[in-house]
Amino acid sequence: MSKNIQAVRGMNDILPEETPGWRHLEEVVRQLLDAYGYHEIRMPIVEKTELFKRSIGEVTDIVEKEMYTFEDRNGDMLTLRPEGTAGCVRAGIQNGLLHNQVQRLWYRGPMFRHERPQKGRYRQFHQIGVEVFGLEGPDVDAEHILMTARLWKMLGLADAVELQLNSLGSVASRSAYRATLVEYLWHHVDELDEDSRRRLDSNPLRVLDSKNPEMRELIEKAPKLTEHLDEESQAHFDTLCAILDDAGVKYTINPCLVRGLDYYGKTVFEWVTDKLGAQGTVCAGGRFDGLVEQLGGKPTPAVGFAMGVERLVSLIEAEHVPQELYRPHAYLVQVGEAAQRQGLLLAEQLRDALPLLRLETHCGGGSFKSQFKKADRSGAPLALILGDEEVANGTLGIKFLREEAEQKLLSQQDAIEYLAGYLIKSAS
Ligand code: ATP
Ligand code: MG
Repeated sequence: MSKNIQAVRGMNDILPEETPGWRHLEEVVRQLLDAYGYHEIRMPIVEKTELFKRSIGEVTDIVEKEMYTFEDRNGDMLTLRPEGTAGCVRAGIQNGLLHNQVQRLWYRGPMFRHERPQKGRYRQFHQIGVEVFGLEGPDVDAEHILMTARLWKMLGLADAVELQLNSLGSVASRSAYRATLVEYLWHHVDELDEDSRRRLDSNPLRVLDSKNPEMRELIEKAPKLTEHLDEESQAHFDTLCAILDDAGVKYTINPCLVRGLDYYGKTVFEWVTDKLGAQGTVCAGGRFDGLVEQLGGKPTPAVGFAMGVERLVSLIEAEHVPQELYRPHAYLVQVGEAAQRQGLLLAEQLRDALPLLRLETHCGGGSFKSQFKKADRSGAPLALILGDEEVANGTLGIKFLREEAEQKLLSQQDAIEYLAGYLIKSAS
């Protein structure tokens, strides 16, 4: 006997009972981004491996050990995208979207990282990403934070998340700080784990991003980047904080926040929650002014962030998801030979007259009893009933499945009127 084939570990099916939460999040995000003047861009899922090596950085978790990289039939080295910024910048340069203009862009879709699967950490996961090109900030950095703060309100998550903020300064201030940090780390080299010891030479700032709890104390006592900021980065950060203060957005400055990708500088931020266990970051981003040039474009300031969709969906309480939007309004029960012949036609007439009506028609015959059971299971509040008698008289029965109300028998024309009124009432 052959064994069932299972999905790849860490790559999940999103089942029909889960999709309403996903769709709700996606809808709300789309509304929000439209309202702020952002435009959607869709990039390929596969890019040349070189793109990620050059942008994310060779000495990062992602590039060192997490990428799904393969050689295709032409011998090109390709990678399933582990994040969206690199591809977005590549697309922007290639299509001439970035030079001398402002772009407010967003995208969504699956990302791939070969991590150890656990709650909130998968090998195929989904991000909604937002990037702005051509603005130096800090006003637009603040826009991203105000926009995400509004999103949490719209999703009922305002009390579940908090904001952590830091500045990584300019390239010059980071390299000055790097020397101080390396000196400190060498003093404690015996306490470093293997990854950190390796990164001590190649990319010491990464040590601050370690997820190893045994390293926490050492990291907390390390010299702080914020104390080595150049004047311009300090002013940028101060203005950002002032805007957030004026807007009443609360934040914590976390000097250890360095982010897991090399391209960040100046502003970095994360929205974190304590409700999801260890995988608590639901949204993370910052400024990456050097990346466009690094990938071959003209120097272009940029800032962006990405949200982890799985983590957000599991934070959103079912009560905030308008489940009724993802169910039919009505289920058409059709019993008897004549009704079965006419039912689909009637359904099409209803759809012509009422384009917003969500109508599930029964197929496959069966008794009234079995069809009503299916009507109930569909979640629809109404059953429309077509039996041989209704066919003969040109009528339609309407039964209320979720409220105490008397069943109606209307002419088919009156039924359309009634349903039109019902749709208006249920939308308000
Ligand atoms: P983490 O610190 O949790 O590893 P990260 O710094 O690697 O996150 P980013 O590359 O900044 O993550 O991605 C932005 C967001 O995408 C994260 O904050 C998280 O919500 C989500 N995310 C990242 N990796 C995964 C994953 N493997 N599974 C599910 N969500 C993820
Ligand atoms: Mg990670």
